[in-house]
Amino acid sequence: MNRMHTIELAGLFAGSGRNLVVDEEIALDGFEGIAFPQPARTQLNLRVVDRLIAIDGGIDVLAQGECVGCLDDVSRELHVEVSERLDPDGDRSVDPFGETNVLVGTRLDLVDLVQQLVLTSLPMGLRCGPDCKGLCGECGANLNTGNCPHSNGESRG
Ligand SMILES: [Zn+2]
Ligand SMILES: [Zn+2]
Repeated sequence: MNRMHTIELAGLFAGSGRNLVVDEEIALDGFEGIAFPQPARTQLNLRVVDRLIAIDGGIDVLAQGECVGCLDDVSRELHVEVSERLDPDGDRSVDPFGETNVLVGTRLDLVDLVQQLVLTSLPMGLRCGPDCKGLCGECGANLNTGNCPHSNGESRG
């Protein structure tokens, strides 16, 4: 697997109205207990707008990990809407990706970009569902299963 996957964008600046379509599967590194067992399906459209590189499209990836509430295993399809503007002349103080090498001059590191976009779009950890009840503070039972004597009829919202 090739971790470096850079795209030379100089051609985009060579003429107006050009665009570059990325349609690839990108393998991602896991992050804080969240694994990405399959490559991220990445469909992006790159253009130059006002000397900025405009990146629009979407990323779909399967995330696996523990529910932050009840610690159950969770698999979740994430869809990331992408609408980014990168400045190739890089004022790194305002570039959200400035601490990395996503964009060096006109070379875009596609793997890094997708990784960052997915990680920044992750919610505060995975949840098995929007109404996960978590674990009982007294006995540690998974409250979603109802096997806890402390949770009878009690709901604190
Ligand atoms: Zn849960
Ligand atoms: Zn309990």
